[in-house]
Order: sequence, then structure tokens, then C-alpha cells
Amino acid sequence: MLTLQQTGSQIPLIQIIETDDRILLNSPDTEWYRILYDFPWFDYRDTAAEYYDALYKFNITEAEKREERFFDADDNDTTETKEEAIQRLLFNRATMQNSKVKEVPVIYNAEVFEPKKLTVKPETIAPGIVPIRLGGRKPKCFFAMFKSFLGASLMGFPSEPETVYLLLGSNPSFIRVCGFAPKEENDEYCYIHVPSLRKLEQFDQIMRDSGLWERVKLSEVSRNIRKGVIKKENELVGDTTHYHAYSEFETVKYTDENGKEQKKSQSKVTKRCRCEDKNKCNHEWALADDGAGTIVKSSNKMHWGHKASILGLPRQGVPLAAAAVLDAATFDGETLYPHVKKLFEEHPELEPWIERVLYDSACDNKELKDKFQNELGIELKTSLNPRRRKEVMEDLPRGIEKVTPYGVPVCIAGYEMDYKGIRYENEKFIYQTPVNEDEVPVCLSCEHKIDCCPNSNTGRTINISFDVLPHINPDDPPMAKRFKAIMSRRPSVERMIKRLKCDLSDDRLSKRGNASFQAYLDKTMIAFHILLRN
Ligand SMILES: [Zn+2]
Repeated sequence: MLTLQQTGSQIPLIQIIETDDRILLNSPDTEWYRILYDFPWFDYRDTAAEYYDALYKFNITEAEKREERFFDADDNDTTETKEEAIQRLLFNRATMQNSKVKEVPVIYNAEVFEPKKLTVKPETIAPGIVPIRLGGRKPKCFFAMFKSFLGASLMGFPSEPETVYLLLGSNPSFIRVCGFAPKEENDEYCYIHVPSLRKLEQFDQIMRDSGLWERVKLSEVSRNIRKGVIKKENELVGDTTHYHAYSEFETVKYTDENGKEQKKSQSKVTKRCRCEDKNKCNHEWALADDGAGTIVKSSNKMHWGHKASILGLPRQGVPLAAAAVLDAATFDGETLYPHVKKLFEEHPELEPWIERVLYDSACDNKELKDKFQNELGIELKTSLNPRRRKEVMEDLPRGIEKVTPYGVPVCIAGYEMDYKGIRYENEKFIYQTPVNEDEVPVCLSCEHKIDCCPNSNTGRTINISFDVLPHINPDDPPMAKRFKAIMSRRPSVERMIKRLKCDLSDDRLSKRGNASFQAYLDKTMIAFHILLRN
């Protein structure tokens, strides 16, 4: 409950507790309710003040825009045809840049807003107490709006206006715990009533466009680091994941640098104006869903979607950053470095923690590993990417059928040999026969023993020369126990992705464009980190 001191001179509204609410408060399965009930609104007062400021500005520009509609766009002399626009937008994409001169960043960056002097004083607002300065109707309470978006995520739904609206329309306890009151049919407008869908959309848009979702996300992560909710780890783990786009694509033909005709999927182009004949008006063409692209999972599995890069701490399973990739068609190997750099810029306190980054084989690239080492002093450790290497079948020790591209010899009886170590002076990897469940080497009872190792009492030991496996780094062979132990922590990122994408939202987007996609990721991260504290 609020105290008089916290809210200034106004007496807080009476909070009604219904029986349903008491049940929700005490049930083990309704964490969302307890978090919203005990919501520490005091920590979000500055954000609330910034929001009211942004809302005020939004209302002014909306009014200006309404007036502008009466004027022509004559002063805009764009004469670009739709076809030209498609080609221009195609060549502006991150995945269409010459790899040597990257002019477009890989990770999406929202517009940066300079912190400005607030006109709304944070100490004058509280749940149910909105600033008086704004002319006209009283605005909806920031805290109630914020809690309703947070609540949707905590309940496992996407934190989007339509879902929030449905939940507010169907769950009286949710309405009350957010701080709204149900609206009866003939009630006049009251700021405390459940908001309309349009007001929820407006709130979401203002939070996105003024960078508030992002700033709240950053401060949730920082707070958890500062308060020790997130413990120090010396490794980062990363991966990318895709979300299904809420748009369609078209296949664009273009001519590449060698004069060859190529094809690429791209979002359809559109104009944001309301002109009747968009082919004739002077407004600019833009991608309907910027950032969406074809994500290749395997040779016959592709998705039209948005791509996010996730970084986190593997031992605790905590995601630290979720960033929209500027062009979803970007190869995974290119997103890691810029994202780690961005993470350290956003949370400089993390940089001294991290000594190693774990990633899948998409980043198995010597140049990239050197870059991490030289520029960040971090070891990049990845699963082996054997590329197009085939199994080695020739010039092998007796009784050995093949060596897999991953450096594992398989004998003629089908056993995989155990890696034992390295003999550096001879430049050889050493392997030994595996043992059965009784700890006896499998060779001793093998039908091939007579041709393979007739005199052995301990089973075969073999050496494989380094040059048989030139793609395997003898200083850090992926067959070694130490390597496997470290890499066993990598799949932790899959669990983080599942938490963000399935437990706290949905993998189907309902908005277009990277700004909305990043906001979607931010809202999910906010819910994750608030949940982590509780
Ligand atoms: Zn137009």
C-alpha cells in the first residue's frame, strides 16, 4: 500500500481486495499476480515522468499531423519509381554490402535520445496520481499501463497491445492489480478506467519511440548485476534465434558485381502516407517490414522472419542481451562480435568479468577468433565446423576403418576410439580402444582381434598424424575432455531462448519493422529480469 509520504499530499485511492485476489496472492502458480501486487513503483518514477513528457509531445505532434493532412506534399520532389525504390532498398541492406567495406551495421541500433530536463517532476506522481499539467483529459496512469504490459509477459503471452487488451477485458483481478477499474457501458471517460485498444497501442508506441522500453531493459539488467542477483561468471554464451515475421516477401531480381542476375527475398515496399494513388504521389517508398529476411536453417528449411542475437551467462542461464539483427538474412558468424561490443558498451561492468565466449560452429573461424583475442582479450571457443571435409579413409593404422571429420577414428568393428592426448614431438594424436561396461577393453573379446592386435592384452593404442586432420588445432583439439567440458555449457543458451521466446512471449510477431521487433525483445527481457529478482 502507498503511504501518505510517498504520494505527496494526495490521499491514495482505496484498494479493494476481493476474495479472488486473496486466492491469487496465495496460490503457488500465480507469480505474475504477486509481482504486480508488490510492484516497486517507486523505482519506475523517473521512467513515468519521462513517459508523461513524451506523451505530451506525442499529443502535440499528432495534432500537427492532423492539420498537415490538408496540405499537399508538393515540396517533396521525390520522383523515384517503385522499381527504383526496390533496388535502392535492396542495395542498402546489410547483407548486400561488399564484405570488405561494411557501411551498414550488423546489429540494429535504436535512435539515441539525449537525456533532457523533465518537465514532469517524478516526485509528484504515483500509481493513480497523474501529472496535472497536461491539458484536456487526464492521461491513463503510467504504472497501470506498464504493469498491464509486464503482466501479459509474466502470464506467458506476448506483451503486445492486442493481448493486453484481451487480458484486461477478461480478467477482473488483472484489471484491479494493474490499478485500473472496469468500465461500465454508460460510464463517461475516466482516467482510471480500463484503456481502449487505441490507448494501449499509443502507450506501446510512445514507449518504443522515446526509447523507454530499451532504457527500462538496460536498467533491469544493471540492477540485477548491482544487487548480486546476477553472479559473476567468466564466460559468455551466444546464439541467434528467429521469430516469424508479420509480413510477406517478394523475390527481387538484381545484377551482381560480376554482371550476373541474382535473386533475393525482400519485404514488399510501401508508402506510409494515405494517398489514394501511391504510384503517383511524392512520398518516399520504404520497406513494409524492415529487418525481415530469409533465415536459412538447412538446405530445405527456410523462414521469413526477424533474427535476434542472444548473449548470456551459461552457468546461471541468464540472458544479458537480446538484440535485433539489422537484416535477418545476416549469417550467424557475423553477429557475435558486434553484439559483444554493444553489450560491453551498454554494461561496462561486465567487460572485466568475461574471459571466454562460447558459440556454435558458425563462428569457427580463425580470423574471428584472432579478432576477439586481439581486440577484446577474449578467447572465442566454438564447436568444430568441419566445412566440406570428408572422412579420412586412406593411410590409416591397421584395423581402423576411418577417421571422422571431427577427429574420431572408428575401427573395423565399429568402435569409436577414445582420445587420449598428444605427442607433440611426433606431431601425433593418441587414441585408445574404449572399454566395455566391465571396464575391459573391447578388443579382448572382438572377432577382429586376430587381424588387428593379436598380442595385445590392453587393446589397441593408435597414433594419427596431425597432417591427416589439418583442420584440427593441436593446441586445442575438440576431442579433448577439457574442450568437451567447456562446450557442454553452450546449450545453456538454448534454454535462455526458450524462456524468452516461449515462456514469456511468442515466436510469431504481430508488428512490422526492426523498431517494433527490438521493443518486443526488450519487453520480454524486462519480464525475465523482474522475474529473476522475485
Ligand atoms: Zn503519398
